[in-house]
Amino acid sequence: MLSDIENMENEELHFMYPQKPEAELQNAYYVLKMLSNPLIVSFSSHLALFALRMHLPIGFAIKHTIFKHFCGGETLKESQGAIEKLGQSGIGTTLDYSVESMDSEAFFDSTMHEILDAIVHVKENPLVNNLAIKPTGLVSESLLQKTSRGNALSAGEKARFVAGVGRIDQICKAGAEMGIEVYIDAEGSEDQDAIDEIALAMMKKYNTEIALVFTTLQMYRTDRLAYLDTLVAKAQKESFKVGVKLVRGAYWERESAKGKNIVFERKSDTDDAFNKALDSCVGHIDHIAICNATHNEESTRYLTEIMREKGIAKNDHRIHFSQLYGMSDHISYTLASEGYNVTKYLPYGKVKQVIPYLIRRAQENSSIAGQMSREMAMIAEARRSAKQSRNT
Ligand SMILES: Cc1cc2nc3c(=O)[nH]c(=O)nc-3n(C[C@H](O)[C@H](O)[C@H](O)COP(=O)(O)OP(=O)(O)OC[C@H]3O[C@@H](n4cnc5c(N)ncnc54)[C@H](O)[C@@H]3O)c2cc1C
Repeated sequence: MLSDIENMENEELHFMYPQKPEAELQNAYYVLKMLSNPLIVSFSSHLALFALRMHLPIGFAIKHTIFKHFCGGETLKESQGAIEKLGQSGIGTTLDYSVESMDSEAFFDSTMHEILDAIVHVKENPLVNNLAIKPTGLVSESLLQKTSRGNALSAGEKARFVAGVGRIDQICKAGAEMGIEVYIDAEGSEDQDAIDEIALAMMKKYNTEIALVFTTLQMYRTDRLAYLDTLVAKAQKESFKVGVKLVRGAYWERESAKGKNIVFERKSDTDDAFNKALDSCVGHIDHIAICNATHNEESTRYLTEIMREKGIAKNDHRIHFSQLYGMSDHISYTLASEGYNVTKYLPYGKVKQVIPYLIRRAQENSSIAGQMSREMAMIAEARRSAKQSRNT
């Protein structure tokens, strides 16, 4: 009995920061240090948006600091170095063409073509696992909102909406034909009902044998556990697999300010809902594939524990973990070294177009001081021990 408990304790994950070259550690340390100051983050975010509007040449400075930390490159080719480095440590890549959305059909078409090229890249590159799409990069956000509200669309709007859904369909179809997973990102609650419907239609169409299309559930939302139950019931009744990427949700401040009880007000309630969703997914693993997309150590550990309790192999193809590139490397590298399926979401795109993504990351990092100071302490320790071993 005692030895059982000891064995279980030994199997608990201990997160370790990976070994990296000094220049990389130094850049990571200074970027995170800068982001730990909310005043600097707020000032630089305004400055970057202003410079972007005024067409000022700030690309170079951004590309060699914060962009380098959070993005693979401006193109798929430029991202190859990051992909290979992750691959050497057993970490896969989720490609994320992460450009700012514009409400123009030409923009949506070019995004779709970029993503179709990326699917071919995933197919040809064994180190890249799958890709993510942002619905507002492919369909007009105002039409997603109108549809979500249940408002009637004019004939012209309807045609544009159908074309947008068609773009997502083309991407999911190409993914399904090549056996590549497509993660459909979740966005603001005013867009989400329409996105849910589109994602459900794609899962019914392409997830007949295994989950290749994944919807995203933001567990800070008060209605998502019930929605997960509905998805499971539909999958059982209509014989398709649910693919679900679980996240806490990136827009908490904005959603909470609406004062409509859309999101939980206490972080602990979001944490509870997240872990209950993990329980439910693992409980229905014959109908669901999961991507546990989080930087939270407890939620990561929790899933590994329930997998162990249920006797699910670490590399079971239905369970993945994922972190954003440039964040929580201690989690990704530890999971990979323990044999779990893990990827990094790797954004790429022109520096100017990726700035809104970078600002979101900067703001998120400045609001999670506890986790970030732990990450900075780990980087500082990694630099210290690398220096020591160089000196001996
Ligand atoms: C691979 C990957 C893919 C992602 N894809 C998406 C996506 O498609 N859509 C999306 O919206 N986000 C996405 N995110 C971001 C994600 O939603 C979170 O914002 C981010 O990961 C931080 O949450 P956490 O679980 O990592 O960690 P934690 O640091 O433990 O949690 C922070 C989160 O808790 C929640 N929170 C904070 N304060 C409160 C409060 N007072 N009450 C209730 N809840 C609170 C917020 O959601 C906040 O982001 C993704 C993240 C990853 C790693």
